Amino acid sequence: MLVKDIISIMNRLAPNYLIDSWDNSGLQIGSMEKEVKKVLISLDLSIDTVKEAIKNNIDMIITHHPFFFSSIKTISLDDIKGKIISEIIKNDITVFSAHTNLDMCEGGINDILSDKLKLSNTKPLSRFHTDKLYKISVFVPLTHSDVVREALGDNGAGFIGNYSHCTFNTKGVGTFLPSSGTNPFIGKQGVLEKVEEEKIETIVDEHILSSVISAMIEAHPYEEVAYDVYPLNNEGESYGYGRIGELSEEVTLEQFSRTVKDTLECETIRVYGDMNNKIRKVALCGGSGSSFIKDCYRNKADVYITGDIKYHDAQLALELGLSVIDAGHYGTEKHVIDYLRKYIGDNITDDIEILVHKNSVAPFKTI
Ligand SMILES: [Zn+2]
Repeated sequence: MLVKDIISIMNRLAPNYLIDSWDNSGLQIGSMEKEVKKVLISLDLSIDTVKEAIKNNIDMIITHHPFFFSSIKTISLDDIKGKIISEIIKNDITVFSAHTNLDMCEGGINDILSDKLKLSNTKPLSRFHTDKLYKISVFVPLTHSDVVREALGDNGAGFIGNYSHCTFNTKGVGTFLPSSGTNPFIGKQGVLEKVEEEKIETIVDEHILSSVISAMIEAHPYEEVAYDVYPLNNEGESYGYGRIGELSEEVTLEQFSRTVKDTLECETIRVYGDMNNKIRKVALCGGSGSSFIKDCYRNKADVYITGDIKYHDAQLALELGLSVIDAGHYGTEKHVIDYLRKYIGDNITDDIEILVHKNSVAPFKTI
């Protein structure tokens, strides 16, 4: 497998349309065409990550945090960033990052946290993107309606909630007159034809619209396929930062804080709020989520779990009646490393070794 094949596996989990405008997820350094035998997963591209990659003959490093955010004007081998770039290039390693798209996607960092903390009825805390939906109707001769319906459904059309392959079908009569230069599947040139047909209607998400249309045309027997595509005002799936969900039963902030500390395997956490506060509705955001405190308030959360809470963030939360658990930037994001190892491992077709950066630790100690 090549780097581009691993990236396409990553993009299936964390699609590019969920990359925020300020973010720089994607290829950082290296070639898409490089063959991959060994992958290393890390939160960051630190000098320790690079040393471990070189020691283990790694071909591709996947990080959560992009290495490049702002433009670089100099690569100096006298500073750490320049040394990292130089070592990566000298050792022919490719570096790829999935950041905000891995935060927001289904199954990403915030869903991992929600699952660990057993939240139900989860939805994004702050909406970033809502899928646009389209309706396709296609006219098919009765002999081929099953095969076209199957092609639509197997390629992702007709998803409504947890139901796939949803279609509506009506029978009718199609007419056409093949003119010169045609090679009709049914009928003859110059003769008006009447055919028993079925109109198949289904719903399609904008991201797969063109591939669904291609698959539909491929499965259809006619030389010229008659179909319509309508934009819909129905709301598609929403994606965004953080999650808000519910616990199965109310607990105190004291009890919930201990659950968070144990479940997220944090050495320490910081808790803001009265320890007797009742907690049922939980908001969370892996990493630095202080900018979503007002979203927690609007969503009527009882507590907010995130990292990097500063003095004034905590003050704002408490003024809004919101308890906060700061489980650390690292403490809330480290869980994605093992998750990615399993996800990539389950999706690769070649024998590729996947290592995780074991020395990945929070860059500070609490004593
Ligand atoms: Zn982060």
